[in-house]
Amino acid sequence: MKIDSIQNGVVIDHITAGCGMRLYDLLGLDDLDCSVALIKNVASKKMGRKDIIKIDAAIPVNLDIIGYVDPGATVNIIRGGELTEKRAIDMPECLTNVIKCKNPRCITSCEQELSHVFKLTDRENKVYRCIYCETKAN
Ligand code: ZN
Repeated sequence: MKIDSIQNGVVIDHITAGCGMRLYDLLGLDDLDCSVALIKNVASKKMGRKDIIKIDAAIPVNLDIIGYVDPGATVNIIRGGELTEKRAIDMPECLTNVIKCKNPRCITSCEQELSHVFKLTDRENKVYRCIYCETKAN
């Protein structure tokens, strides 16, 4: 997979195979006007198979979302056809308005104005819990 087709944009690489679509959804890439490519099951020496997302526009991407879905992914920023920046991804301590609490009795399901906030409570097992009701995110 070559990235030279993109002049200015973002390439999210080394996505765990099968996680690309979730990332695509949570990042809201469907709403962009520019061309976006989701390439699934690319052969990778390091990972066996991986997904790649290419965004043909210099837009800011929410690294927290990437860190939540797949902290092993890498983000490459392309400017003028060159790789100018590689961003390290880490699991965010806190996720705001990325995912919604599924507990029907959670205060966020009746108070529409409340932000949906999840905190990382177990880094090793990648567990996020709603700050209001402690329901686990899945
Ligand atoms: Zn909740």
